Amino acid sequence: MKAAKRQNKLGKIFVISGPSGSGKTTLLTSLIQDKKIGKLLVKSCSVTTRPKRSQEREAKEYFFVTLLEFRRRLKAKKILEWTRYLGYYYGTLKEPLEKQLKGSKNVGLCLDLKGVRILKKIYPKNTVTIFVLPPSLSVLKERIQNRCRYTNQLEVARRMLLARRELQAAGKFDYCILNQNLPAALKELKSIFLRESGA
Ligand code: 5GP
Repeated sequence: MKAAKRQNKLGKIFVISGPSGSGKTTLLTSLIQDKKIGKLLVKSCSVTTRPKRSQEREAKEYFFVTLLEFRRRLKAKKILEWTRYLGYYYGTLKEPLEKQLKGSKNVGLCLDLKGVRILKKIYPKNTVTIFVLPPSLSVLKERIQNRCRYTNQLEVARRMLLARRELQAAGKFDYCILNQNLPAALKELKSIFLRESGA
């Protein structure tokens, strides 16, 4: 009976946000690599129209699709929430997320502010919001510059502009993590996960 009850319990959603280059994806990926946590938490894989970066893999970081395909999925209501970020579309797939939650799995997502707001609205009791702060704007710029090495400086400037705006929303989140040092930030994220998931 107890096991059946547990089966019916909806998993929790851990939404991580923060400026591009704050380290949110690295933190979530590293958290899932933890043996114990990896059994309890899965990473949601979004669809995007953004071009694939050299180190990225299809169906790992994202499902990379054309604008036409993205629109088709939107029209077919396969996307739970979506955003347009610096000219590209990003969306959370509805079916895999619902399936994981119903199977009592916790799901981790890295979303922009719009995505956080919408998920919190759809799943108010199940969503934990976490904001990742970079140590400083200059460190953030350096990280974005490294990431955008093969693209142009305009993208760096646009991401920095957006970052300044995103940082103003940090206070509205359930938790804030300063990512000055990865192991320390990861330790903090792990303790938030364990507390909130009741694991
Ligand atoms: P990037 O191009 O750096 O991978 O992602 C740009 C921004 O889009 C990041 O803030 C990232 O967290 C966000 N993002 C990625 N996938 C989704 C999604 O499915 N929905 C929303 N709302 N934001 C997303």
